[in-house]
Amino acid sequence: MGTTQGVKTFANNSKIGERCFLFEVVGISAQGGNSLNYPIRQSGNTFISVPYSRMNQEMRRINRLGGKIINITPVGIDTAVAASSSNSQNKSNSSNSKPMTQAKEKKKTNIPVNIYKPKNPYKGKCLENYELVAEGGSGTVRHLTFDLSEGDLRYLEGQSIGIIPPGTDDKGKPHKLRLYSIASTRHGDTLDDETVSLCVRQLEYQNEQGETVYGVCSTYLCNLSVDEDVAITGPVGKEMLLPDDEDATIVMLATGTGIAPFRAFLWRMFKEQEQNPDYQFKGLAWLIFGIPYTANILYKDDLEKMAADYPDNFRLTYAISREQKTDEGSKMYVQSRVSEYADELFEMIQKPKTHVYMCGLKGMEPPISETFTAEAEKRGMNWDDLRKQMKKEHRWHVEVY
Ligand code: NAP
Repeated sequence: MGTTQGVKTFANNSKIGERCFLFEVVGISAQGGNSLNYPIRQSGNTFISVPYSRMNQEMRRINRLGGKIINITPVGIDTAVAASSSNSQNKSNSSNSKPMTQAKEKKKTNIPVNIYKPKNPYKGKCLENYELVAEGGSGTVRHLTFDLSEGDLRYLEGQSIGIIPPGTDDKGKPHKLRLYSIASTRHGDTLDDETVSLCVRQLEYQNEQGETVYGVCSTYLCNLSVDEDVAITGPVGKEMLLPDDEDATIVMLATGTGIAPFRAFLWRMFKEQEQNPDYQFKGLAWLIFGIPYTANILYKDDLEKMAADYPDNFRLTYAISREQKTDEGSKMYVQSRVSEYADELFEMIQKPKTHVYMCGLKGMEPPISETFTAEAEKRGMNWDDLRKQMKKEHRWHVEVY
């Protein structure tokens, strides 16, 4: 680790070619608060060059010291010092610093994928495994958290990981991996960037002979004991990522365990602000959540607390299919709610800051499309064209099974 021209760097700890970011920090006082020994400028601003892999730890440390990050600029390791010089004495040496034009590239290259492949999965210990369905609800849905502290696995909200169940299939071959949407933010439920959580329903169905069949991987996970090792691959997925825009409108349409990525989104927006000085959500999040019974509302207390605490930023609408009915007397599904709020939703989605996410049962997609087709026609528009446009603008995100 070295300090050059007043900028603390972690270059020696990072892999060659790993991207670096320059944090400009205020509020770390020179008298005592500066226990990290960062160089402090006369202006009171501190500049810290941090490789991508250490960003979260660094942000937390700065937070703990009472510092506030006021600017993060992407730079290459070689350009870190030069980029910092825009605010220092060494302006003449900044010709290779193009932080703004690199912003787009940063976004693309920093999505972690396939850090652990099926041939060499990460072995993570199960730290917790608890039931999410309350008394009287249907089936079993578990919240599981795995330890990642022994490896390099990192991920973003909206991604998935693979789980390889132990044992072999009926042909004697090792089981293939199953993908599960991640339910935690990049910081993990323990807020130390060292865990990942899932929300898993035990798959159960009747086969043609009328026998009850249980899903291999979901049953394995639902019955997993704390301290057992789990083979994890990934992360994968770029479809369901949350935009960086803090003022965005995020419409989330979920059935059952399709809540997983939205739990991660909402935790990032409303529960982990301290961990994310670079993302302070000020927009509107609207979750329309379809479940069979009230007892099946996963993460119910947390969701309702967030809705109560952030009434201007979070709207929560349930579609409880076996307890609520539509005006026409049919089951209340996510698409029924979309149809109920069709006008408002359609006005919303035409705005460039609005992103729509759908996760869960694929059956909800066609009726939602029908609703938007009708709304578009009312306005002399074409839904297919608009949807394609939204997709191109990365504002229409669908992950349904
Ligand atoms: P669940 O608790 O059983 O709830 C599903 C809800 O959706 C129920 O209220 C159900 O109503 C309703 N529903 C049934 N058919 C529907 C349809 N055609 N359109 C809209 N809603 C409908 O949920 P779950 O067992 O967790 O199932 C969630 C599904 O999402 C699973 O198929 C899972 O594989 C999938 N999933 C996908 C992802 C992903 O793509 N990343 C992630 C997680 C989960 P009734 O039962 O009362 O009819």
